[in-house]
Amino acid sequence: MVQYYLPVGMRYATLEERKEFYLSEFNLHTVFEWFGTNQDKVKFAVIIGRHTKIYPEKYKEDASTTIIIDDYKDLEDVKAQIIEFLPEAVYYDRNVYEENDNKVGQELAFDLDPENITCPIHGTLADKMKREQGLSFCELELEMVKKEAVGLYEFLSTRFSEVRAVYSGRGFHLHVFDKHAYQLNIQERADLAGQIKNSGFHIDEWVTSGEMRLIRLPYSLNGLVSRIALPLTKGELESFDAIHDKQCLPKFLSKRPIF
Ligand SMILES: [Zn+2]
Repeated sequence: MVQYYLPVGMRYATLEERKEFYLSEFNLHTVFEWFGTNQDKVKFAVIIGRHTKIYPEKYKEDASTTIIIDDYKDLEDVKAQIIEFLPEAVYYDRNVYEENDNKVGQELAFDLDPENITCPIHGTLADKMKREQGLSFCELELEMVKKEAVGLYEFLSTRFSEVRAVYSGRGFHLHVFDKHAYQLNIQERADLAGQIKNSGFHIDEWVTSGEMRLIRLPYSLNGLVSRIALPLTKGELESFDAIHDKQCLPKFLSKRPIF
């Protein structure tokens, strides 16, 4: 496999580092504060080692599958299950369910990834795919995608009042928590996604249309780049520096030289 290039200091987290992070830094209470009243029967999901090929030996067969965590007693139980799998990524399901597992709505979200940006140095996504570097990105692309996230935040703020930004470890997610947005139908979501694409934003339409209902869990570890998925205010987003911002750096990085 071709090693992919990433901004300085971004690298895969080891199993030991994932364990250290989820044991000592990860706080699900903070996650639920972020959710507010929008989610109370959240389904979580993990991917153990699909991209990194780093997984506990006993989960070799399941390393690339998406494992749903919806059977849990309490937050501690969720945390215990995450620590059992030591995943490269943790997600949550944007669908909102009733007691009987009936879907009653879906959070509206937007995903902006740096690899979709056409870079003056590394070219288009197609160029990167040809080199088997479809998940690669550089600091320049990160900065460009951040500017897009600020622009999209402003665009969304003209239509919605509860817009939340999250740095995902690679790019940025914008979540819309307005009650009425949960009730948009598939066509309305597709129309909105199309309109936003036509305005020049490089969003992933699968996420906005709802076909991809999982999204990275805020405050979890992105094990591909060793960064914490971090909620940001509009002001924080504008000046955000993913390479150096201490808030998105897991503690294990400071124990080892960054190269
Ligand atoms: Zn680039």
